[in-house]
Amino acid sequence: MTALTDLTIAGMKAGLAARDFSAAELTAAHLAAMEGARGLNAFIVETPDIATAQAAAADAALAKGEAKPLAGIPLGIKDLFCTKGVQTTAGSKILQGFIPQYESTVSGKLLADGAVMLGKLNMDEFAMGSSNETSAYGKVISPWKARDSDGLHSNRELVPGGSSGGSAAAVAARIAAGATGTDTGGSIRQPAAFVGISGIKPTYGRCSRWGVVAFASSLDQAGPMARTVDDCALLLTSMCGYDAKDSTSLNVPVPDFAALLTGDLRGKRVGVPKEYRLDGMDATIARLWDQGLEWLKAAGATIVDVSLPHTRYALPVYYIIAPAEASSNLARYDGVRYGLRVTPPGGNLADMYSATRAAGFGAEVKRRIMIGTYVLSAGFYDAYYTQAQKVRTLIAQDFERAWESCDLLLTPTAPSAAFAFGDKADPLAMYLNDVFTVPASLAGLPAMSVPAGLSPDGLPLGLQIIGKPLDEASVLNAGLAIERAAGFTARP
Ligand code: GLN
Repeated sequence: MTALTDLTIAGMKAGLAARDFSAAELTAAHLAAMEGARGLNAFIVETPDIATAQAAAADAALAKGEAKPLAGIPLGIKDLFCTKGVQTTAGSKILQGFIPQYESTVSGKLLADGAVMLGKLNMDEFAMGSSNETSAYGKVISPWKARDSDGLHSNRELVPGGSSGGSAAAVAARIAAGATGTDTGGSIRQPAAFVGISGIKPTYGRCSRWGVVAFASSLDQAGPMARTVDDCALLLTSMCGYDAKDSTSLNVPVPDFAALLTGDLRGKRVGVPKEYRLDGMDATIARLWDQGLEWLKAAGATIVDVSLPHTRYALPVYYIIAPAEASSNLARYDGVRYGLRVTPPGGNLADMYSATRAAGFGAEVKRRIMIGTYVLSAGFYDAYYTQAQKVRTLIAQDFERAWESCDLLLTPTAPSAAFAFGDKADPLAMYLNDVFTVPASLAGLPAMSVPAGLSPDGLPLGLQIIGKPLDEASVLNAGLAIERAAGFTARP
């Protein structure tokens, strides 16, 4: 019999409905897996008591025939989502001990749909990073190991990607059936690719940002991470929806994304942006990209070449706008309202602010605050920030023009497979990880990563599908076509 932790969310739903097992058993199996995999450091806080109580409630609802769509499904919640009564740190020391009085809209929607919360997932501090090395609660370790040239597994520890690295590791290691992630410049898609799972960042505004600790508000989006495209669709349907408490929330109907999945791409035109074919691109990734196009063709799509001429400005634009917004958002951590407070003896209020922020923020967060403050300063605002906003518009217009000749875009998700800790100690090398994911973030477009193959050393590689605004359904459908054709069954 398949282990309960190996089932997909769809499989769990079916098993619960058929009474093959109870929600209590399903949750117990995941709690045992969580305990067994503590070495990965995927969770900052485990909430077994909450999970057990929620599972009991799910069993009661199932018995009465009143089960909600996610009744009894064990999920991990990224620690960027405020959870009522459960410590929420955003991976930062400055929020240590912060217990929100309220639930974020997105986690609240999942719980209202019957989901079980296993705990709060580790992440890069304030979601800044691509490797999970910036968490104040220790790095998350990928459950994957590379194969050495002798065919044996190396014992080098690999990054799970970031910033949703805890989410990625927990889902890949079968600790959680699915997880919430957030994506500002790639933090759902890149970690999903690194650990061989799927993840979708919906259109900006689809998921409410209310109760999600802010990094860069014009870019931040929540989304699901799970082991299949169908599971992502199930979770996404529950997570999306208009919320009056978020002024950028979109008041549009939410389709039943899972019900729309067919894998049939007849009539769809898939664009290949030529600017994404970088010089010196990894040969395996280039081949996988071509393979992905063949798979989409076999599913009925036609392939067209497109140009997104401003692509090369996306990274610099992102690394001006995201830090600018972060420097403003993070001004609220002053030692007065939340978490940590450091009071130097004999110091005044300003000394308390500085001491708290000096002790509470890690190096990457400080770097971003300084860059952000600089590009927003009176003397440099026009040269950097205003200019970046203009180029952001040009990037968005590139996509609008591309949609005249295609319905979807296919690209690699990341320029490499997962790397080892410390390999990208230079911040600029780390930022290059986001080269394929950041443009869709700047344009607010839905985009997903689906596992499509393995690198020569046996590590997962993902392909990215980008769609038109609000067309998550087509993105997921193309994801399903790739999932079916790739037959990705490798596991850590
Ligand atoms: N790696 C990117 C950054 O560090 C993206 C992070 C994210 O999407 N949250 O900003």
